[in-house]
Amino acid sequence: MHSTNGQRPTSRVLVTGAGGFIGHHLVKSLKARGYWVRGVDLKQPEYEASSADEFLELDLRRWENTLQATSEIDEVYNLAANMGGIGFIESHKAEIMRDSALINLHMIEAARLNRASRFLFSSSACVYPGYLQQSTDVTPLKEEDAYPADAEDGYGWEKLFMERQCRHYWEDYGLETRVVRFHNIYGELGTYDGGREKSPAAICRKIALADDGDTIEVWGDGHQTRSYCYVGDCVEGIYRLMRSDYREPLNLGTDRLVTINQLVDVVADIAGKRISKRHDLTKPQGVRGRNSDNSKLREVLGWEPSVSLESGLERTYRWIQAELEKAGRLPLAA
Ligand code: NAD
Repeated sequence: MHSTNGQRPTSRVLVTGAGGFIGHHLVKSLKARGYWVRGVDLKQPEYEASSADEFLELDLRRWENTLQATSEIDEVYNLAANMGGIGFIESHKAEIMRDSALINLHMIEAARLNRASRFLFSSSACVYPGYLQQSTDVTPLKEEDAYPADAEDGYGWEKLFMERQCRHYWEDYGLETRVVRFHNIYGELGTYDGGREKSPAAICRKIALADDGDTIEVWGDGHQTRSYCYVGDCVEGIYRLMRSDYREPLNLGTDRLVTINQLVDVVADIAGKRISKRHDLTKPQGVRGRNSDNSKLREVLGWEPSVSLESGLERTYRWIQAELEKAGRLPLAA
């Protein structure tokens, strides 16, 4: 296990993307650990108020705004990105690469100029090559498998490029950089509608809106496989990585592989509904199979995610159900 230095909370940290799903949860957990937190995003969190000490609505594609965001900040958790589920990232490649590259290149340089001591970059399992993800029973992906590179077109290439820039900032300037590769993070307070939602949230919404015995639409043939990580585990892992002395990219996910069909069945069980599936083969479904090898995570952090898929999905489903009730799209539960 790599040493953890600086256990004592430094005084001021910045979370970008603090109006988004993971960033919002991260702000809450850093506050609970005693940090002073500045949150920055284009928008406030959608479902509950931020617990940040200060929340700035800034467009981080703009250089002067990244200087303002990083002013008098000790550590930067850089989560802001223009992103969404597979439907979004397959149809907005130019926008995603332009916006996220501008945000990330400006953010890391502003952090350096403002003398932040650490910079964490949120990368993705989408950096892994397509040629290793062509079957449903894939071998779990190890960090070194990212090369020779054949990342997810658009979104994944920008992440891979920025991972390298983090290494260069350490090599050339001595900025302590941390790079985390998330694997399908899900949980409460995440987008569940509107086109940017990911598969767990979309499936929870469809089943919540369905009656017992109904059929829901599933993208692809449903045999595609993934592993999923609950957001509470995700923010714990992010924090542990930031505190470690590990500068290479690190997977953060679980290694329990499930098909999309199984994911539907788990959610249907939680909902207590009999649900049939209609597979739409014209919809995007991403790589055929993807799993996370967590050997390095265990070695580096002496820790790994522990919330089961059933338990995490139960919390996610109940939250989405309650949101749909509040929005008047479902009758209030008796
Ligand atoms: P999210 O979309 O909920 O949050 C991203 C936030 O960034 C949004 O609130 C958005 O408004 C903000 N943002 C976008 N453009 C901005 C700009 N120009 N200036 C300021 N803020 C801007 O996404 P998330 O799921 O919370 O993801 C957080 C990070 O983790 C992202 O970098 C994402 O690529 C990465 N990631 C997430 C997953 C996942 O499963 N959720 C998987 C892999 C990687």
